Amino acid sequence: MKLGKKITIVMFLPLFFFAMSTCVKDNPSDFDGIPLEKKDSISLKLISAINSDSIKATATWLQRMGTRFSLADNHRLVAVSIRDKFKRNGYYTAYIDSFLLSNTWKSQNYTTWQYNVIAQLDGSVHPDSLSIIGAHYDSNVRDGDPFKKAPGANDNGSGVAAMIEIARVMRLKNYVPGISIQFVAFAAEEVGLFGSADYAAKLAYSGRPVSIMINNDMIANVTNPNRLLWEVKIKHYSNSEDLSEKASALCGKYIKLTPVIDTSGIKRSDSYSFFLKDYKAIYFESASSDYNYHTIGDLAVECNFNYCKLVTGLSAAMLVHSD
Ligand SMILES: [Zn+2]
Repeated sequence: MKLGKKITIVMFLPLFFFAMSTCVKDNPSDFDGIPLEKKDSISLKLISAINSDSIKATATWLQRMGTRFSLADNHRLVAVSIRDKFKRNGYYTAYIDSFLLSNTWKSQNYTTWQYNVIAQLDGSVHPDSLSIIGAHYDSNVRDGDPFKKAPGANDNGSGVAAMIEIARVMRLKNYVPGISIQFVAFAAEEVGLFGSADYAAKLAYSGRPVSIMINNDMIANVTNPNRLLWEVKIKHYSNSEDLSEKASALCGKYIKLTPVIDTSGIKRSDSYSFFLKDYKAIYFESASSDYNYHTIGDLAVECNFNYCKLVTGLSAAMLVHSD
């Protein structure tokens, strides 16, 4: 009897939890009984659709390109592949924006065409204004030949995968922002932030208003096994301290990551190019050191995509709350 009754209860428990999670996730009208503002419910909807396996699949796909070094022969093919990935996710107008780069690498001069990749989710109220989320797609190694092999799963396959995942779930959930959102994969960051510098200059010349620029760089490594102690570095510039405060608040509200405000190394990634053009930029990075940094060991198997999913959620919420 007892046994009979016990089996019945056990069987329905997962269904009960499933029903609870489904109704809260897909159409939240309240959360734990608290009425939610529209941006909160949209953020929750997007965050719950973000999938760590999907992020992992994209980072692995990028890694399998062999190298994404900006001077390697395949660098245009890498950009075209990323553009087509956006198109497959419903961004049919995704395009490549090219620029000519002359630079020196290991005392040899190179003049190459480089390719930023841009996809846009059109805004319904202010389509000319922009919120930008970006990540560099190129990779580099110091323990081998980057022209041949530079897997860059964490640096920066994780940032590109996060950006593509946000684009995917915004389409999936039919999210229509008021301000247009641009997803930008930058070229040639590792050799001198050239892709973001080129794009920020073109943007400044266009005069389009930009509400925020979010940069993700190396967001899939965490050393602490205890996820309750996971942290994320939030980096702002002298004109964007309020964005750090907003990101910290959103961390507490949705993400369960401990925010660590840290302005070290803020010149070392693409958000710096936007700061130099007076745009308000913020930069997210894992709080753990990556021992595989710029090595052929920077592989997807070394990454933690459950952690990356959380940082991706933070960026999605920042975009919604900056709209
Ligand atoms: Zn990087």
